[in-house]
Amino acid sequence: MKKFTTLCSLVLLLVCSAAFGQFGPPPQAPKDPIVDAIIKEATTNSQLEKLGHELMDGIGPRLVGSPKMKEAHDWAVKKYTDWGIPARNEKWGDWRGWERGVTHIDMVSPWTKSLAGTQLAWSPSTKGKTVTGDVVIIPDGADSLAFQKWLPSVKGKFVMISMNQPTGRTDDNWDKHGTKESVEKMKKDRQTLTEAWSARIRKTGKTNNTLPAVLENAGAAGIVMCYWSRWSGSNKIFGARTKKIPTIDLMLEDYGLLYRLAENGKPVKISVRADSKETGVQPTFNTVAEIKSTVNPTEYVMLSAHFDSWDGGTGATDNGTGTLVMMEAMRILKAVYPNPKRTILVGHWGSEEQGLNGSRGFVEDHKDIVANLQALFNQDNGTGRVTSISGQGYLHSYEYIGRWLSKVPREYKVDLETTFPGNPGSGGSDFASFVAAGAPGFSLSSLSWDYGTYTWHTNVDTYDKIVFDDVRNNAILAAILVYQACEDPNKTSREKSVLPMNLRTGEPGKWPEQRSPTRKGGME
Ligand SMILES: [Zn+2]
Repeated sequence: MKKFTTLCSLVLLLVCSAAFGQFGPPPQAPKDPIVDAIIKEATTNSQLEKLGHELMDGIGPRLVGSPKMKEAHDWAVKKYTDWGIPARNEKWGDWRGWERGVTHIDMVSPWTKSLAGTQLAWSPSTKGKTVTGDVVIIPDGADSLAFQKWLPSVKGKFVMISMNQPTGRTDDNWDKHGTKESVEKMKKDRQTLTEAWSARIRKTGKTNNTLPAVLENAGAAGIVMCYWSRWSGSNKIFGARTKKIPTIDLMLEDYGLLYRLAENGKPVKISVRADSKETGVQPTFNTVAEIKSTVNPTEYVMLSAHFDSWDGGTGATDNGTGTLVMMEAMRILKAVYPNPKRTILVGHWGSEEQGLNGSRGFVEDHKDIVANLQALFNQDNGTGRVTSISGQGYLHSYEYIGRWLSKVPREYKVDLETTFPGNPGSGGSDFASFVAAGAPGFSLSSLSWDYGTYTWHTNVDTYDKIVFDDVRNNAILAAILVYQACEDPNKTSREKSVLPMNLRTGEPGKWPEQRSPTRKGGME
């Protein structure tokens, strides 16, 4: 046995040394001066940290229709202009204008504690006052009749409409420290509680979406909720469904405190001050910047990332990091590849979060560009290194993407996997707006860094979560792909693959349909 192993090792050694001796290490793309210059500019003159600070800390969250969104668009145009890249804000629609002010929430009885939480986007204000009221929980009534009977009692009170989570620890934390039995028990308890809570809401005859307005019309002082993101200190902050009273989201830790006190019959009171301003109907924009080609000015290679965000945090990983990748790639390309063989465009889209509206608007308004698009690269799933690219259902995508990727040095694609031809994306982010129009739009898809739980649409999607080395990796990758797509002597094929049959309906697979944006939003 021993001998056998030794012999094997020896053979292996010989094979290996033969492989390395004769042919050298696995092939690395031959040196390309532009690729080298891209890497040098990205690593020795990186602007990512500065841009990240200016955008996330200096401007902040970028809710559609808010003054912050407009400020960000103007900032981006100024940045591009300073880099010598012509840029413009293109109007594609109008949205309800709303400006976030302070939210102060305190428990004032049975004892005093300032609570961690915030109003939802578009929440009505408390009109410059601090409103104090009892806290009550949606009761576990028998049916909708019982609910209707209870309803008048909410007058002047804050109503809690979310389930009380049994644990504020992450599942990872439980797995690390719990016993097998305790972890299983916790998960089972949580499942039972979740089902019971759904039943409780169902029995009111309302849904989570319709309940706030019903409580508002019954005279409640405010809605209190907790959309826990399964991560300590992290909640998802979306839009309010009330028109007159504030909707506030409390962190699990403080929501649980109020809930347990109220449930056990203690009179619980909170004080809420929520300031905000309605600013009327506001124009909404995409920021578009352009490095024009003199060789093929009407053929286009595009970088793409949505610019808007939810506003509980500062939109650092959704989609601050995608934004940084594209801005930095543009800056680098202008510095080292100022005379591209095709025109390079970047789109910083508005209102992706409400349904890819900015990019759908662009696709509708710029049919010429979409028809002559060589390739588009979008990034929008967090701060991580790009680890997957799909051919989005284009039959020959493996040929050109594979060729372009071969020019990327190994260290910038270590974990990268490709899927060809893949399936056409019907949503998720702005590349889908282009795919729906039959244009070669691709997604540079990142590894997670717990994006879905930790930062996606949460109050803690902030600067400190950015992993700058990964973002730098992505800026280099995006810049090289754009350079290669510009240099390619061939136009990319748009031939679609035959899509797999829909197993449920037995129908042949269908390419996603192009859809119009919502051009007037938030006013219903
Ligand atoms: Zn996003």
